Amino acid sequence: MTEIYPRDLIVDTSLPDSDQFAVTAVDGRVGRGIRANIPFGRGTRVAKFAGTLSNTVFQHSLQVSPETHLHDPYFVGLLSHSCAPNCVLDMQRLEILALLDIEPGELLTIDYAVTEDTLYRQFPCNCGSSHCRRWITGRREAVNEEGRAYLAQLAAKLPRVHRGAR
Ligand SMILES: [Zn+2]
Repeated sequence: MTEIYPRDLIVDTSLPDSDQFAVTAVDGRVGRGIRANIPFGRGTRVAKFAGTLSNTVFQHSLQVSPETHLHDPYFVGLLSHSCAPNCVLDMQRLEILALLDIEPGELLTIDYAVTEDTLYRQFPCNCGSSHCRRWITGRREAVNEEGRAYLAQLAAKLPRVHRGAR
């Protein structure tokens, strides 16, 4: 077993370790993610997490309050986004909770818009959920220009309904 967090951040012995989780490359996508090595039941605590507080939004930060962000490039900041996630964050207790039963090998996912007013970077999503929003923003920001162009391009690819001439 090796610790996932560096020594100076391990202030709590219940922080996650590599017996429970693997920090891995995510298949077919750029970036890393977190996989469960052991099962977690729906509604249970998956892990506690830690980090450093900042007033800046980083790529791997999570919003605690409008002015405060927890920067964790080791674990929780690496969680993947899904529009139908298997986890949710409690940003007061700094805990990950399971929304669904999670099997060993499964990627842990959260909905970034649940915690973030404004994302470090908006991005396209193809998570496979029937509720997929296709372009992910923070909960208090509009789709940016790149997103509008992306969504317009997707809409143009949809089969057109023939209206029929009269
Ligand atoms: Zn999605």
